[in-house]
Amino acid sequence: MSEVHAAADLLDGAPVLRGLTPPARLAVLGDPVEHSKSPAFHNAALRAAGIDAQYVKILVRPEELSGTLRALPAAGFLGVNVTLPHKAAALATVDEADDYAKKSGAVNTVLVDDDALRGFNTDGPGFLRAIREDFSADLRDLRILILGAGGGAGRAIAVQCALERCERLVLVNRTVEKARALAAELAPCFRSDRLLGPAERLAAIPHEDEALRAELAHVDLVVNATSLGMKRSDPPLLPQSHLTPNLMVYDAIYTGGKTRLIEDAEQAGARAANGLSMLLHQGALSFEIWFNRPAPLAVMRAALLAA
Ligand code: NAP
Repeated sequence: MSEVHAAADLLDGAPVLRGLTPPARLAVLGDPVEHSKSPAFHNAALRAAGIDAQYVKILVRPEELSGTLRALPAAGFLGVNVTLPHKAAALATVDEADDYAKKSGAVNTVLVDDDALRGFNTDGPGFLRAIREDFSADLRDLRILILGAGGGAGRAIAVQCALERCERLVLVNRTVEKARALAAELAPCFRSDRLLGPAERLAAIPHEDEALRAELAHVDLVVNATSLGMKRSDPPLLPQSHLTPNLMVYDAIYTGGKTRLIEDAEQAGARAANGLSMLLHQGALSFEIWFNRPAPLAVMRAALLAA
């Protein structure tokens, strides 16, 4: 696992980071950050593209975030990724942000543009590409149910689905008020007479078996964006009997391998995929923002799988 640097290494003009070979000019900022897989695939991409820079991990405490971002131009940085718990604070710090970052309330990619900081969020667009890759399907054609829609990843995915004007969106959250508030925000995207059929185009429900069973009869894609499912001891997200062969199931967990949800889905005859593809594509989109050229996706994928 690569070394973790401190915010102080960036705040003082970054002599240590500039002195690395190749010099550090990109980073992921988070707290904690040591488990990030991003350096593995970004450094592989930088080498493949012949760019004389490396991507490092920097542990940034919440109170250090704004100062660390502001120090990037003087430190010679091209940009950074921002991860938990800083994505909302990064949006408040950057000089400008793209529309999707504003709507999702979070920035995960910062581009240093002279002295200005430009914010983007590649999580939702990365999800869109992941679904296209894993299921050969476009969000706009799907009826989508998101478990954990009230969390950070769930919100990012829900906003992307809404901006794509997906056929139908069901927001599920343990704390149902969060799903209802998000549904109210996204409602303008669903004001049309496009669908068809008995179910509402936009719904918010509690994470309860009966409510889920009723909705699953009217969806194509189920997404797990809860923090459950990583550990074998976690309770099941939904009863296996709710899963049917027509469903696509995407588990945003990116530890690799098969989660219990994926195993349950496959046993039911459904297609299923894990969150590695979303991680890969959000990273590839960051690369494209920083360098304005296509990312070496095959190299990044191989590095991510090896990591
Ligand atoms: P988060 O903001 O903490 O949200 C957690 C969500 O899980 C909330 O909706 C929460 O509901 C729900 N939840 C927690 N415990 C639950 C339980 N016992 N039963 C039902 N729901 C429960 O977390 P996050 O950052 O969004 O991350 C969520 C997952 O997405 C993680 O596994 C993360 O690794 C993954 N992720 C993947 C990618 C990728 O690129 N593949 C990117 C980002 C995140 P309440 O609102 O009721 O608390």
